[in-house]
Amino acid sequence: MAPKTTLDGYTWTPESGITSGNLETDAVIVPPRSLSDTVVYDAIVIGAGYAGLLAVRDLTLQGYSVLLLEARDRIGGRTYSVKHDGLVYEMGGTWVTHHMGYLFREMVRYGMDRDLITTGSPDIHKGYYTMNVPGANPRKLSHEEAGKMTTRAWDMFVNVDGQYGRTICPLPHAQLDNPIVSRATVEEWDKLSCQDRFLQIQHQLTTEEQGLLVALLLHISGGTMENSSLWDMIRSHALLMHSSDNFNDVWLRYKLRDGQTALAKRIFDEALESGLDYVFSAEVKSIVQSSNSGSAPTAVHTTSGEKYQARKVITTIPLNVLKDITFHPPLPATKREAIAIEHVNHMTKLHADVAHNLAELERWNGMRHPANLTHAYADGILSTGDIHLTAFGSDQRPHFIPENNPELAVAELKALHPDPMEVKKMVFHNWSSDPYSQGGPAWWRPGYMSKYQEALQARHGDVLFASADWAHGWRAAIDGAMEQGVLAARVVAGEIRQVKKRGGRSKL
Ligand SMILES: Cc1cc2nc3c(=O)[nH]c(=O)nc-3n(C[C@H](O)[C@H](O)[C@H](O)COP(=O)(O)OP(=O)(O)OC[C@H]3O[C@@H](n4cnc5c(N)ncnc54)[C@H](O)[C@@H]3O)c2cc1C
Repeated sequence: MAPKTTLDGYTWTPESGITSGNLETDAVIVPPRSLSDTVVYDAIVIGAGYAGLLAVRDLTLQGYSVLLLEARDRIGGRTYSVKHDGLVYEMGGTWVTHHMGYLFREMVRYGMDRDLITTGSPDIHKGYYTMNVPGANPRKLSHEEAGKMTTRAWDMFVNVDGQYGRTICPLPHAQLDNPIVSRATVEEWDKLSCQDRFLQIQHQLTTEEQGLLVALLLHISGGTMENSSLWDMIRSHALLMHSSDNFNDVWLRYKLRDGQTALAKRIFDEALESGLDYVFSAEVKSIVQSSNSGSAPTAVHTTSGEKYQARKVITTIPLNVLKDITFHPPLPATKREAIAIEHVNHMTKLHADVAHNLAELERWNGMRHPANLTHAYADGILSTGDIHLTAFGSDQRPHFIPENNPELAVAELKALHPDPMEVKKMVFHNWSSDPYSQGGPAWWRPGYMSKYQEALQARHGDVLFASADWAHGWRAAIDGAMEQGVLAARVVAGEIRQVKKRGGRSKL
């Protein structure tokens, strides 16, 4: 069978320049539609990312009729795995951990919990780190030294209460309402930006530590120091069990050997075996409820003019895309306000094949700040013998859009290393210019969580909203997407069960 390729993503080589699509991935679903003769479904789920996949799996397994509508030609949303010269390139969400409860449960279910690989070289300690920050000479150092400096700076940054956030964010899945801290206290902390906090501790850090810290914060938030909330950093640290000892193991070390797409595909296949209907390349443009009481079906319209109906709708459309969807009746004012503000993460993630002509390059990590690409690390050797690098940068629009200016992207990659590197190929997905994500993993502005989290999570009549972008705990992560899909499916299943029990009293 010919390998499946997606319309998503970009490839660049010096010979052919930029080409879009044509990346090999099992995430593409063939045939692109499979419909039964159902007229009114129990549920329509919009979006085949992890939130949508968990929702359709959980609902079809309970025997409900479910239609999945997805704008792309593939599953996985902000995750998909590309097969590339013997390696798996994760284009979006990548790292997994047993600290993510919803995710780990799925890994166990599909037998993937013990089939992990680590990021970078197993004997990375033999390699080196390169650092280039303002006010200090660029230099090579050991991974250990770079790690110690970064940890000291990060610890100082997140230690806002002398207990690494334990007193203000004891339970990251219950940030606003928990037995330890009052909502008013959380709201005060939520007002601060990363820049506010940085200015409080800057004088205690060396020049190098300052550069490492700011670059790391921007790498995580994908925004600017001013528009990135401090609270999201505190929440993230709480999810690391309030200890930077867990930073690498929880956040950056383990990957699924077969890739994210293999997990997404297993979830999709189980739903399919349980009777799922689906349509890919189906861009939803409006959701129309003729009644808020559940007595008439909700209609979902696509841009190509198709109309589908269901008792309940779960939308997993990302926060930054929701402004493009029309809701009837209109969404409440607070939710509309939250949608208009959007999240701030416009990070770049980019894979590169680099000639293996520098000693220990396969054990290199580097950073440069300020820059369009601030971090890169070696992550495996390709079957061609080239080194695989993964690079990241924060929001540098409008001047840095890699598909529009690949030469700048190559120059930025090269600038990360003090010795000349030969970049042979780049493979990437621009999540910000992508109309179906319009950003990376959600990072919120100061004050946004306490003002909008509940409004974003709230249902609108028979329409439920599930996304990693406003998850309770692992917001902006795969686990948060799964949490949201599971919770929405549970609510929908309970309500349809009641309607069916009532039998004749419903018109559906
Ligand atoms: C570069 C990058 C790196 C990341 N790294 C990690 C990591 O290492 N670990 C981790 O846990 N998380 C990571 N994340 C975050 C994680 O991948 C996401 O938070 C999560 O996958 C989002 O899942 P979701 O289902 O909520 O949304 P999505 O995956 O975005 O799914 C939403 C779906 O809705 C579809 N859609 C949008 N608009 C429409 C429309 N109008 N009609 C129909 N369908 C529509 C989209 O095409 C998409 O398939 C990363 C994300 C990115 C982008």
